[in-house]
Amino acid sequence: PAQAAGGEKWVKSVCRYCGTGCGLYIGVRDGKVFAVKGDKENHNQGFLCLKGFLLPQILTAPTRCLYPMIRKDGKLVRATWDEAMSLVAARFKEAIEKYGPDSVAFYGSGQGLTEETYVANKLFKAGIRTNNVDGNPRLCMASAVGGYVTTYGKDEPMGCYEDIDHADVFLLVGSNTAECHPILFQRIVRRKEKAPGTKVIVLDPRRTPTARIADLHISFKPGTDLAILNAMAYVLVQEGLIDEEFIKNHVTFGEGTEANKSFEDYKAFLAQYTPEKAAEIAGCKAEDIVTAARWFGEKGKASMSMWTMGLNQRTKGVWANNLVHNLHLITGKIGTPGSTPFSLTGQPNACGGVRDGGALSHLLPYGRLIANEAHRKEMEKLWGVPEGTLKPKPGPSTVEMFQKIEAGEIKCVYIMCTNPGQSLPNVGRYRKALQREDVFVVVAEAFHPTRTTELADVVLPAAAWAEKEGVYGCSERRYQLLEQAIPPSGESRPDFEILCDLGRRLGLGHLVPFKTPTDVWNEILTICKGTVYDFSGMTRERLRQAHGILWPAPTADHPGTKRRYVKGEDPFVPADWPHRIKFYGRPDSRAVVWMRPFKGPEEAPDADYPMYYTTGRVIEHWHTGTMTRTCKELVHANAEAVAEMHPADAAKLGVKTGDKVKISSRRGSEVFKVKVTDTSRENLVFVHMHDDQHLCNLITIDALDPISKQPEFKICGVKVDKA
Ligand code: SF4
Repeated sequence: PAQAAGGEKWVKSVCRYCGTGCGLYIGVRDGKVFAVKGDKENHNQGFLCLKGFLLPQILTAPTRCLYPMIRKDGKLVRATWDEAMSLVAARFKEAIEKYGPDSVAFYGSGQGLTEETYVANKLFKAGIRTNNVDGNPRLCMASAVGGYVTTYGKDEPMGCYEDIDHADVFLLVGSNTAECHPILFQRIVRRKEKAPGTKVIVLDPRRTPTARIADLHISFKPGTDLAILNAMAYVLVQEGLIDEEFIKNHVTFGEGTEANKSFEDYKAFLAQYTPEKAAEIAGCKAEDIVTAARWFGEKGKASMSMWTMGLNQRTKGVWANNLVHNLHLITGKIGTPGSTPFSLTGQPNACGGVRDGGALSHLLPYGRLIANEAHRKEMEKLWGVPEGTLKPKPGPSTVEMFQKIEAGEIKCVYIMCTNPGQSLPNVGRYRKALQREDVFVVVAEAFHPTRTTELADVVLPAAAWAEKEGVYGCSERRYQLLEQAIPPSGESRPDFEILCDLGRRLGLGHLVPFKTPTDVWNEILTICKGTVYDFSGMTRERLRQAHGILWPAPTADHPGTKRRYVKGEDPFVPADWPHRIKFYGRPDSRAVVWMRPFKGPEEAPDADYPMYYTTGRVIEHWHTGTMTRTCKELVHANAEAVAEMHPADAAKLGVKTGDKVKISSRRGSEVFKVKVTDTSRENLVFVHMHDDQHLCNLITIDALDPISKQPEFKICGVKVDKA
């Protein structure tokens, strides 16, 4: 904290929004936050995007949730903390006693602080003894996790943001970086300006603002990028743009779930993906695929791929991720400055708190798995609970959890810091589930009303960003401390305190005896020790001083690791390892090039629902809009979700910008105003996800990727009628 004249102080923190994790300082005057400014010593070099810049407004939004509420006679009415917590504890106890521990569940968020998520995970898995613990990262990043784990054996990217400054070629696939990760996009633009000749390839059905800086934009039929990525690999192999030495030393080939194939098998597999064939499947030009492959594979150039929801939110999301990794592995463009695959994260702490912290239904902290007996035993010892406490069967993934609520199997759910009443796919179905009379819904939230608090039986007011302290971990494995700048508003309390209170009331206080977030962090340091995440050198004091540290950082003097798996950088690669890289996440230390055939989406357009429907983000808003839609400038800039339609589609329907259309799928319908724009591809309608009054997810499909269990938000079939 820097003390300035006139009683002002500037408190070091991190942006509350996207997974870029921009460092900032919060300006406090007379006990109130009056401004933020970018941290020049952090990776964002002092820059913030519009949303980050306007963050102070959310703290005093008229929708701040300031006191506990209990539903009485159908209405949420003010209650004391003791009344609310007594009721929550009583209902949870009753359900556990009557129906067993799996009748309750926790649904968390990539926006909770690491300490909060850790407490919830421990309380539910080791205390209550249920693996009904999942979170919204399942909706956005699960396929990226699946891609990393199947390819390298361990989750999380190996590269870092600094790679952007060294890349000669960017492959942006399924990522509208300009709108969703604007500060990273700006860094790409700066690289392009500084290094003429830098190429940007964008693979996206829509001509987004990202595509507008592209040297090559390939628009394709939604869901067909698997064919394009395989065809790029075909060209790389055919034209000798591969690194045979790297393949020999670091790569193995696989099909299905077995990594037992040869390079010859892979070549035979690729033969079905000539550029011509892929272009026919995808509805793009074969020569563009060839150009993209040649640029990506050019010898001596550094290539960086970036992706996010366009690849992940798919029923073939893990496969699509695998195919991007393949391009790096066959060319050896990995683990050197500017050459890396790099997934971008949507939320500020999806990586740190939920993925790394193991707060999903199949995970335990820091790379350990529920289904692995040795991992369970290790965690039981670390958590000081009797052997056999942790259940061996993974719990349900997010959508499956809400299906269990729908079926009446889960009777009580505790939802923290997220808004499933708006953000789930096919949300109408799950909104009904949450309204079952025999289901008790607790929502800990900083804002009310939301489309989830309106369904709650109890609303617990949570302290917001700037009102509490804790750690966020962003897309590049950077852990950063958010210092508390001001006290919690109204009667709100930090989530970790609420959870510890619940633990005590359930008779499990001994498991969550924490007084401060630092107490929790100190325990976390002992849990990560000895794993490949090992950041036990990141003491609280060190994090206070630093502008983020990239794990692993196993000792107090370790500077952090920019590039994982790389000798001389990653502390887990022995100095005498004979190669420059070691994929130690897999038993043979080799990464897998998977043969993943093209398969279309779960629900392609047909005669009844003839158009593609896709959802996504815009630069002005974030997630379900509970925060950004309280900022008047952002609402002024983008007031509501509209249906973006190609001029040819609009002409066929006889609508113009401002007219209304009803979009219907097999699951539901919603009315939107039209925006006619050539951003959209013909026969594709796009709606953003941030509007609580026009729910894009009444229409989306809840089909899941079988590996990651991530839903296919990005593609379904719809019909569009003039409203
Ligand atoms: Fe915040 Fe993301 Fe904008 Fe950075 S890019 S200021 S993290 S919203």
